[in-house]
Amino acid sequence: MLPTLLQRNWSPQQTEVEKDQKAFLMLVERRQVMKRTIFIILMGSWTLAGCAQNNKQQKMNSQFRALTPQEEHVIVHKGTERPFTGKYDQFFEEGTYLCKRCGAELYHSTDKFDAGCGWPSFDDEIPGAVKRTPDADGMRTEITCNACGAHLGHVFLNEGFTAKNTRHCVNSVSLEFIPAKTAMTATTDTAYFAGGCFWGVEYYLEQAPGVISVESGYMGGNKKNPSYQDVSHHKTGHAETVRVIFRPSETSYEELTRLFFEIHDPTQLNRQGPDIGEQYRSAIFYRTEEQKKIVEGLIQLLKGKGYKVTTQVAPAATFWKAEGYHQDYYVKKGGTPYCHQRVNRF
Ligand SMILES: [Zn+2]
Repeated sequence: MLPTLLQRNWSPQQTEVEKDQKAFLMLVERRQVMKRTIFIILMGSWTLAGCAQNNKQQKMNSQFRALTPQEEHVIVHKGTERPFTGKYDQFFEEGTYLCKRCGAELYHSTDKFDAGCGWPSFDDEIPGAVKRTPDADGMRTEITCNACGAHLGHVFLNEGFTAKNTRHCVNSVSLEFIPAKTAMTATTDTAYFAGGCFWGVEYYLEQAPGVISVESGYMGGNKKNPSYQDVSHHKTGHAETVRVIFRPSETSYEELTRLFFEIHDPTQLNRQGPDIGEQYRSAIFYRTEEQKKIVEGLIQLLKGKGYKVTTQVAPAATFWKAEGYHQDYYVKKGGTPYCHQRVNRF
C-alpha cells in the first residue's frame, strides 16, 4: 500500500516535478540556443570587424609611402638619426613639414629655430598634429605623428631657447618639407618690414584689411636666436622686423608696402624718432623677385616726390621671433604707439 500510496501520492508530485524539470530543461535549452545564436552573431561580427580592421590597416598601409631602411629604423622602430647629419638640421626655408610616412602636416617653418643640438627643432606644432607619450623609463617624452603614429623624436620643456620654452627635437628622416610656394596654404603670403620699434609697426599693420597676423622679431643680422638685449647692444646687425601674414585675395603686397611707407618715416637713417640705432633702420626684406620689384618701384615713386628714402632693400633671411612680451605689445598694454603715426606720402 505504501508504495501504491506513495506512488499515488507521489505520482502527481512527480508529474509536477517532471513538468518543472521539463520547463527548466526547455528554458536551459532555449538559453543555450540563444547563447549559441549570440555567440554565432558575435563571432560573425568579430570576424567582420576583424576584416574591417584588416582592410583599414591595409588601406592605411597602402596610403603610407614606402620607407627606406633608415626611415624605417627611425619612424617604425623609434631609432635616432646621428646629430648634425639630417637634411633639415641647418635648413630654414619657409614652408611646412609633413609626416614622412602619411603626409600629415606637423610643423610650420615659422616655429623652427636653431637649438644647436644637431636635430631640427620647433617650439610649437600644428595644433593637434603631434602626440606626446612618456617614455617607459619616465625620463623623456616621445613625440609621434597623431595621424599614423610615426616616431618623430622627443619633446623637451623649460630649456629657455625661445619664449615658448619648448623644443620638439625631431629626426629629419621623419619629415618631408614642402616649400611655402607649393604648400596647400598658398592662399596666404608673407611680408617682412622693419621700420623702427616693432611694437608700433606691428600695431598699424595688424589693423590693415587682409592681414591675418603680425609678429615682432629680428632679421638681417648674423646672430642666431638673438635676444632683445643682443639686438639692443648693436652687436648683431639685426633690425627689429615684423612678419606679416596676409591674404592676397583681400589685400596685396603693394598695398601693405605702401602702408608701411606711411606708418614710419623712411627718410630717417638708422633711427625712427626717439629710437636711435641700426636695429631701428628702415628695411624691407623681400621673399621673391616680384616683391623686390614692387618695393623698388614704390621707392622710386617716393623719391620722385622728393623723399630721400633710406630704406634698405635686402633678401629675407631667417626671421627670429622676439620674446613673448614684445608680441601684441599695444594690444596688451593699451594706448597707441609713441613712435609711429600714419602720414599720407603717396
Ligand atoms: Zn604620420
